[in-house]
Amino acid sequence: AANEPGVVIVGAGQAGSELATSLRTQGHAGGIVVVGDERWLPYRRPPLSKTFLAGDAAPESLEIKPAALYAKLDIEVQTGVGVETIDREARSVRLYDGRALPYSTLVLATGGHARRLAIAGADRPNVHGIRGIDDVLRLRADFVPGRRLVVVGGGYIGLETAAVAVQHGLSVTVVEAAPRVLPRVASPALSQFYLDLHRERGVDVRLGLGVHAFEGAERVETVVLADGSRIDADLVVVGIGIVPNTELAETAGLEVADGIVVDSATRTSDPAILAIGDCSHHHNARYDRRMRLESVPNAMEQARVAAALICGKPAEYRAVPWFWSDQYELKLQMVGLAEGHDRIVLRGDMGERAFVQFHLRDGVVVAADAVNRPQEFALARRMVTEGARPDPQKLGDPAMALKDLV
Ligand code: FAD
Repeated sequence: AANEPGVVIVGAGQAGSELATSLRTQGHAGGIVVVGDERWLPYRRPPLSKTFLAGDAAPESLEIKPAALYAKLDIEVQTGVGVETIDREARSVRLYDGRALPYSTLVLATGGHARRLAIAGADRPNVHGIRGIDDVLRLRADFVPGRRLVVVGGGYIGLETAAVAVQHGLSVTVVEAAPRVLPRVASPALSQFYLDLHRERGVDVRLGLGVHAFEGAERVETVVLADGSRIDADLVVVGIGIVPNTELAETAGLEVADGIVVDSATRTSDPAILAIGDCSHHHNARYDRRMRLESVPNAMEQARVAAALICGKPAEYRAVPWFWSDQYELKLQMVGLAEGHDRIVLRGDMGERAFVQFHLRDGVVVAADAVNRPQEFALARRMVTEGARPDPQKLGDPAMALKDLV
C-alpha cells in the first residue's frame, strides 16, 4: 500500500491542513501529501490584518498545527513548491520542480489571491496587498508611526488594517468606492455603526469615490480620487477582495464559475477531484444553491465533508455560514445569509457598542450580527441553524433571556 497513489492536496492553507488531519481522524490509512507553494507550513490568515500586523510576532506563531503533528500522523507536507498541471487521465499532478505525483483522489484547496487595482502605479513597492505572511512582512517594514497610510477598500481587511494602523500611530485614510463601508456584508445600520467608530478613532473615511490614479516616481506619493481630490501617502494598502485560484482547475478542463464548481459533497465535474475552501463555488444543501465563501469556518467544514467522502462516509455540506472580524476592542460575529429578510430586530443599544441585530424572513431568524455579544451570538447561531421563530418583541428585549427563546 505504501507505493499506491494516495490523496494529494494542492494548497497548504486552512482547508488543506484541516483536510489532511481530518482524513486521519476519520480513519483514512493511505498516503496523504499536501503540496503548498508558500514557504510556510499551513498558517492562520485572520491575524495578518489584526494582531500580527502591528506586532513583532514570529510567522511560526501563526502555524495551524506544529510540524511534529503532521509527522506523527504520517502526513507529508511539501512547502515552497506549486502544482503546475493536472493530468486527469493519468491521475497525476506535475509540480513546478518537474516531479510527478500520482493520486487516487486529488483535492484542490488553492484559496485565492488579492485582487489588484487595475491602475498605473499599482505595482510600486509601497503598495501592499494582505493575503500571506510574506505580504505582511514586507508591509511591516513600512508600517511606522507617523506615516500616512491610504487604505483602498472599506471591507473587512481594509477596516481591520485601518484600525491597527491608527492605533499604531499612523495617520489613516480609507477610500471606499461604495456609498458605505462593509458594503457587501453588512446592513446599512451596521455599516453606519462601523463608519462612526472609525471616524471617532481618527480615521479619515472617504465614501463613494474610487481611486483614479497613483502619482509618484519610484513610490506612490499621492493618491488621486475620482473627483480629483488628492491624498498624500507614504504607503498604500489595497483590500478590494480576492480572486479565487482556479487556473489549475480551468486548465484541466474542470467546470469553473467564480470558483471551482463542486456539489454538496465537494466533488468537481471530475469525481476523482474535489475542491474546498475559498477556491470552491460550492453547493450548500441547506440553501439548495451554490455560493463562494471566504472564511475559516467554511474552509474547515468543507475539509471535513471532503474527508468524510474520501473515507466512504455520508458527506453533505449544509453548514450555516458564519464569520468574525476584530476592529479596535470590538468583536463582530455574523451568521447566516441576510438576503431576502423582511425585518430587522435590534437587541441592545448600538450606542453602548454591545448588541445583536437579527434578520427575520417570514418570522424566521435567517441571520444575525453580534457586536461584543459572544454568548448571545452562540445562541443566535443556534436560532439560525434551527430556523427559530421567536416572538420579535421578546427578541428585541434584552431583559428577556435569549436562551429561553431558542
Ligand atoms: P488559503 O488559506 O488561502 O490556502 C490556500 C493555499 O494554497 C495558499 O497557501 C496558496 O498559496 C496555495 N496554492 C494556491 N495555488 C497553488 C498551487 N497551484 N500549488 C500549490 N499551492 C497553491 N476568515 C475568517 O473567518 N475570519 C477572519 O477574521 C478572517 N480574516 C482574514 C484576514 C486576512 C488578512 C485574510 C487574507 C483572510 C481572512 N479570512 C478570515 C479568510 C480566511 O483566512 C480564508 O477564508 C481561509 O484562509 C481559506 O482557506 P483556504 O485553505 O481555502 O485558502
